[in-house]
Amino acid sequence: MLRVNNVTKKYGKFVANEDVSFEINAGEISVLLGPNGAGKSTIIKSIAGLLKFNGLITIHGNENKSMQAKRDLGYIPEMPALYDMLTVWEHMEFVARAYSLKDWKENAEELLRRFELDDKKKKLGSELSKGMQQKVSICCAMLTQPKVILFDEPMVGLDPHAIKELKALILEKKREGAAILISTHMLDSVNEFWDSTNIMMNGKIAARRTRQEIEGSGEDLEALFFHITEGEKRTTEGEV
Ligand code: ADP
Ligand code: MG
Repeated sequence: MLRVNNVTKKYGKFVANEDVSFEINAGEISVLLGPNGAGKSTIIKSIAGLLKFNGLITIHGNENKSMQAKRDLGYIPEMPALYDMLTVWEHMEFVARAYSLKDWKENAEELLRRFELDDKKKKLGSELSKGMQQKVSICCAMLTQPKVILFDEPMVGLDPHAIKELKALILEKKREGAAILISTHMLDSVNEFWDSTNIMMNGKIAARRTRQEIEGSGEDLEALFFHITEGEKRTTEGEV
């Protein structure tokens, strides 16, 4: 499971995340909603161990910068960062070696097949479109079979087949017991399968709901989202 406790992140004097806390349990799909600039990528990068911050983040009880936490974590960044000079297959090989994976080839083949990359194995990173790079990035992250998975705007740039496959994969990972965080500004793309949501605005968690709460109260997630993100322009109310 993932625990984010009182994380504050500043870029210089600018506060991009302010006292952010949330938890995601095993088998839970949690969606991080918020408009552009709300601070979603910042908290995700902090969880992934890419930024210095104040606060505490643990992955299955281990501080996020520990080796064990890194082993347990899968991160699919907003912008795929592939190696220009490695082929698609070499990316898989690179991950397998870095994580000392055993018997990974079959899994790698299967992932590439699912994302229609099996005929692209010999293509270099630099030869791939943004969408293909995103798919390789997903395959690389899944190869290690992470227990906590961070997806930053994963649907952007993917074709309909890849979106369908990604959604199926996310549900499989949930069933296998992974804790999953998906950031998005597109409510529609996650509406079918979210279990909990945190809505970010101006670096803070402005509201949080479980699916049960929303369904039980008859509240509308989209209406809540707009109330928070557009209502905030007029008022300075705190957590709703
Ligand atoms: P989101 O992913 O929700 O769109 P980000 O976390 O990327 O938001 O950004 C939150 C805020 O922090 C934005 O105002 C953005 O301009 C700022 N920001 C992000 N990265 C940096 C950086 N490296 N240096 C300075 N400001 C940054
Ligand atoms: Mg972002």
